Amino acid sequence: MAMLSLTISRYSKEFVEVTQETTVIIGAGPYGLAAAAHLKAKNIPTLIFGKPMEFWKKMPPGMFLKSTWASLNIADPQNVYTLGKFGKAHQIAKQDPVSLKTFLAYSQWYLEKVALDIDQTFVKALARDGRGFHVELEDGRSVKASRVLIATGVALFPCIPEFARHLPPELISHSQDHSDFLDFQGKRVVVIGRGQSAFESAALLADVGADVELIGRGPLLWIDRRLYRYTGIARRIFYPPSDIGPAGVSWLVAFPQVFRRLSAKNRVSLDARCVRPAAAPWLRPRVEGRFTLTPNTCIVEAAEQQGGLHLKLSDGSTRQVDHVVLGTGYQPDVEALTYIEPALRQQVRKENGYPVLNQWFESSVPHLYFSGALAAYNFGPICRFVTGSFAPARQKTRHTVLGL
Ligand SMILES: Cc1cc2nc3c(=O)[nH]c(=O)nc-3n(C[C@H](O)[C@H](O)[C@H](O)COP(=O)(O)OP(=O)(O)OC[C@H]3O[C@@H](n4cnc5c(N)ncnc54)[C@H](O)[C@@H]3O)c2cc1C
Repeated sequence: MAMLSLTISRYSKEFVEVTQETTVIIGAGPYGLAAAAHLKAKNIPTLIFGKPMEFWKKMPPGMFLKSTWASLNIADPQNVYTLGKFGKAHQIAKQDPVSLKTFLAYSQWYLEKVALDIDQTFVKALARDGRGFHVELEDGRSVKASRVLIATGVALFPCIPEFARHLPPELISHSQDHSDFLDFQGKRVVVIGRGQSAFESAALLADVGADVELIGRGPLLWIDRRLYRYTGIARRIFYPPSDIGPAGVSWLVAFPQVFRRLSAKNRVSLDARCVRPAAAPWLRPRVEGRFTLTPNTCIVEAAEQQGGLHLKLSDGSTRQVDHVVLGTGYQPDVEALTYIEPALRQQVRKENGYPVLNQWFESSVPHLYFSGALAAYNFGPICRFVTGSFAPARQKTRHTVLGL
């Protein structure tokens, strides 16, 4: 009953009955929005749930992005609502690096242009229901769907190292828990990690006057962009606009349907090479000389002591700090999507926690699709970034239009 009232309130009863197809998209980040825009263009009845761009709105407002201007387009079927078009329409010059503020303003413009009807309610439970799905919402409503696209991003997959699992949140947190670091002024903070979010969190902590040390378990690397910078328009020989990964390889990973055909071994090693931990070079002046960098070291033990944390490091040294921030990234895992009922999760074939997907981004459960970082095992590193949002949007829409 609840399902019918919701479906009918958004789409005419007649329309739903003619197509007998309702797709539910769970998530309203770049991947959910892109898929909804593609389905809408084909008049496929679609319900999209989630808070628009929520993950990005929680990031520190003063942040800059690792991606380049050309690689931050949220896909739309006509390829007309790009960041470049937004910039032209609002007299915003191409930025390098692109600020989070500009990207959020662009996503708002995109939303207005594609005019999606987003239901900002969260999905509480997803279960199989005959040949379709039953979707329960947090506000008590429920809907039935013939197809479901999972687009809930990486927020449910923070990597928490073993040493940190028993410690309270006042002493240890993940970088995604902070939209600012003001509470850490004058505090001793260790940031763990070697990627962009570790470096950027450490820089933001230094900005507010924290006493910071960044500790990484391997070498601390800067992304080498010399070839990109000095080749002018010829840079497209080495890097496509999607711009993921090192020169040359980035052309291969720009085509997710080609990437999908590689052997599992090659896919895994190429993915790891393209997203290896390193920071954008424009961050360098905000890091070097401002705080301690400790490479090739890891925390072997952490214990509560004197209201803070006592850390033992792999090089035999110790630290007494007020807080540890984990800039340790994310590890996608279907099992962490607890809103999917355990029985349904179990039916999804997985490799290393990732769902195994066919060319349509469909899992081993018919008509259950996965997008974003969860699709990286089959479709490569491009799925971890906004620039890959075209791929599941197009494939899922084609699959539905073909009635497969
Ligand atoms: C610090 C940081 C910096 C980054 N910088 C870049 C960058 O420069 N360039 C880049 O391309 N990528 C960057 N990324 C990666 C970025 O997260 C992805 O590119 C992008 O957000 C993936 O989009 P998505 O739609 O898969 O997920 P998200 O953007 O995470 O969206 C998830 C959506 O799911 C919704 N949701 C969650 N749970 C539920 C539920 N139960 N029911 C309904 N809705 C739900 C949320 O409300 C949200 O709308 C960065 C990530 C981090 C952590």
